[in-house]
Amino acid sequence: MTGNKDETAKEQPSPKANEKTDANNDADYSDLYPGRRDSPTQNWFRKIVFAEQQEQLQKTRCEVNVVDCIQNSPLVKLMMAALKSSGCEVDIGRHISCEVCDKVVTGGYDPQLNQIIVCQNTARTKNRVQSTLSHEMIHMFDYCQNKLDLNNIDHLACTEIRAASLCHCSYFMALSRNVASPIRIARTHRDCVIDKAVRSIVAVKDVTKDEALTAVLRVFERCYNDLEPVGRRIRRNSHDMEKAYLEGPLYGYTE
Ligand SMILES: [Zn+2]
Repeated sequence: MTGNKDETAKEQPSPKANEKTDANNDADYSDLYPGRRDSPTQNWFRKIVFAEQQEQLQKTRCEVNVVDCIQNSPLVKLMMAALKSSGCEVDIGRHISCEVCDKVVTGGYDPQLNQIIVCQNTARTKNRVQSTLSHEMIHMFDYCQNKLDLNNIDHLACTEIRAASLCHCSYFMALSRNVASPIRIARTHRDCVIDKAVRSIVAVKDVTKDEALTAVLRVFERCYNDLEPVGRRIRRNSHDMEKAYLEGPLYGYTE
């Protein structure tokens, strides 16, 4: 009988033995963090509160810039009017959202929610917000008007070509004229559009640069020459934006 008792004791250690092991583990755990009891717990709390305040400040500044662009930027106003005339009126509160994003992008378009995202951490100036808004509004317009399917790489390439051509590269080309670099001057508007469109595709879709380039070249001519709804390529330091806005009603775009 004694022998059996001993075996049972081996298989099922007594609660006392367990307690002892736990107590030892606790001691080891504490030893791994020397001084942890001394650190004031308020430190991390203050850091989080401070970070939240900064983020909220960033968001508010972004929203102020968005409203400013919608009220004062001729290009953004033109896009708003074009979207409205196409039956896709933009509700600022619902369709434009300032958010923290990945550092490589300044904005995005979410077709499921029909929502433009302006990245509050990367699009920090009014100019950046304006170019981001107008770029994303081209995607919104294409989604509404041209039944854009972002899963189709040709569709994605087409809308990125149009956004680069009508917004980003127009600024870039005008800017390069002011810089005395032969390399920059030699870059044509077309090269800029191809380059920017390829980078935009690679940033949002899991494809190689070559696959993106092939898609861009496949649809390039058709999409590059489609200037709707802006009607012209915008150059920096010019009155193109105002002209495009004033021409809006000719295309049937009314505010
Ligand atoms: Zn884009």
